[in-house]
Amino acid sequence: MNESIKGGTVLLIEDDPDIADVVRLYVEKAGFRLAHAVSGRAGLDIASGSPIRAVLLDLGLPDMDGVDVCKELRAASDVPILILTARDSEIDKVLGLELGADDYVTKPFSPRELVARVKAVLRRAEEDRPGTAVVEVGGYRIDEGRREVVLPDGAVVRPTAREFDLAWYLATNTGLALSRGQILESVWGYDYFGETRTVDVHVRQLRKKVPGIPIETVWGVGYRMEG
Ligand code: CA
Repeated sequence: MNESIKGGTVLLIEDDPDIADVVRLYVEKAGFRLAHAVSGRAGLDIASGSPIRAVLLDLGLPDMDGVDVCKELRAASDVPILILTARDSEIDKVLGLELGADDYVTKPFSPRELVARVKAVLRRAEEDRPGTAVVEVGGYRIDEGRREVVLPDGAVVRPTAREFDLAWYLATNTGLALSRGQILESVWGYDYFGETRTVDVHVRQLRKKVPGIPIETVWGVGYRMEG
């Protein structure tokens, strides 16, 4: 785990004291301070007045709809927002471009899952800072700043965010056989408790979109990019 993501304040906007207690325990154990607001308005006040690394936002708040809190937060800053919700039906909406939340966990969630998601959201926020890094592998240019892959013939492919992250991870570790578990941990930010098939699906997509991309299957292990 990258140590630089530790420290700083995480803001929890949640009116349920039992959930707040559990969240505080685990967020503090993970090395963050927790600021806790029990209403949407109080949460927005804290967010506007002090530096916050990430917001954990309940959708069912006493004074405001969490969806509106999310909108206001996003209008004011790029702070990573993790939604805590029992409202499955709202998830698509809050993760959509309009509201711009980064991720969600559905209640009831395990503390371990929550902490993993918080760390993943913080790490992604750091990695999303504009960069100019380009890696060239076997004639393919993988451009982190533009988040695109340039084929040897000059054609440009823009994979999905996750596919790009996968290509970037493999390209910055060329020659190494990487296990599916390692890939999940590094690209997805947490393991999917054995759901490594998601790696295979994304590799397949990447091979389809970026013809000839030098990703080799390493039998019994995972994948390797050859430069
Ligand atoms: Ca609530």
